[in-house]
Amino acid sequence: MTSLKERIVEQIRRSGPISLADYMEICLLDPISGYYSGKAPVGASGAFTTAPEISQMFGELIGLFLADAWLKQGSPPEIAIVELGPGRGTLLSDLLRAAAAAAPRFAEAAEVVLVERSASLMKQQRELLEQYRPRWAECVEDLPQKPLFVVANEFFDALPIRQFKRKRDHWRERLVGEENGSLKFECSAPGNFGFLNGRLSDTRSGDVVEYRAKVNKIARRIAKGISEFGGVALVLDYGGWSSIGDTFQAAASHEATDPLAEPGKADLTAHVDFGELARSFHGVSATSLITQGVFLERLGISERARHLSKSLAGKELESHIAAHKRLVHPDEMGNLFKVIAFYPAGGKLPAGFAE
Ligand code: SAH
Repeated sequence: MTSLKERIVEQIRRSGPISLADYMEICLLDPISGYYSGKAPVGASGAFTTAPEISQMFGELIGLFLADAWLKQGSPPEIAIVELGPGRGTLLSDLLRAAAAAAPRFAEAAEVVLVERSASLMKQQRELLEQYRPRWAECVEDLPQKPLFVVANEFFDALPIRQFKRKRDHWRERLVGEENGSLKFECSAPGNFGFLNGRLSDTRSGDVVEYRAKVNKIARRIAKGISEFGGVALVLDYGGWSSIGDTFQAAASHEATDPLAEPGKADLTAHVDFGELARSFHGVSATSLITQGVFLERLGISERARHLSKSLAGKELESHIAAHKRLVHPDEMGNLFKVIAFYPAGGKLPAGFAE
């Protein structure tokens, strides 16, 4: 069978170099050889482990966060709980269990919607979440017309980006081309890209900027739903308030690797520009951007950790303590991951955030 790399080389020979966005989309989502079509992309055996795979406490606290937001909005009777890119389904499973215990009517009121493109992950999600009778949506255009309680953990960093390098007042796009069957980066001819006009004021000649059309489109659609019907969107991811520079990276077996070496074998990501994300969430209020460590502490992770530790001993207790530390400690995921929430304009501030 032809490898994904051979197919990409073939495509480039036929129709020329491709954008980083097209390259990311093919490498991650190709139905046969894409990274997310593989057997175990997420979790201990995949390229990376995510917070919900580290401890059940992560999903549980997010369940309480969503239930609290629902109560603050007057407990609407028909809502959708939506996860963007649910991976193995672990986060949803933990959050629905905790939400059902804390606010049974919240879980009962909910239609569970999973936005996913990977057939192999959908299968795992179906097995784990069967009891909630979830529905899958390929894209956010298919979300229901109801209050939306949305969570996105390590989702936006997987969406395709384009990169541009400034030269005086022009931009050259960074493209993926090929030479003798190997993939290589190259630059387009200089051009004007209307969507980058605003970046002439915060960059200098030589700077690299990233453009995330898909992130912005998804953000606008969810913001529209929340402003019309209510709800909340909680986003947890790598990144900062504004990004300049190349943040495109590849990981395989928990190690950084060359993103062009083996398409489909590595996870490809780029940092989330939370400032740009917040601007795309039109017509809703945004919290400030805080770290995952602070967010989880404010939601009561230490208390939850102490409670769970009472029934543990030996190795299990040790790994529970290590998991807690990994989620919140500033040297581990605590500072690296950032959190922001979007809620109806002028509504009550969601839990875990401060004015
Ligand atoms: N949220 C999960 C998994 C994060 S991995 C966790 O915290 O464990 C990224 C997820 O986004 C995977 O489920 C992947 O299949 C999905 N995904 C990636 N690109 C997507 C796209 N363009 N549309 C929908 N889902 C996508």
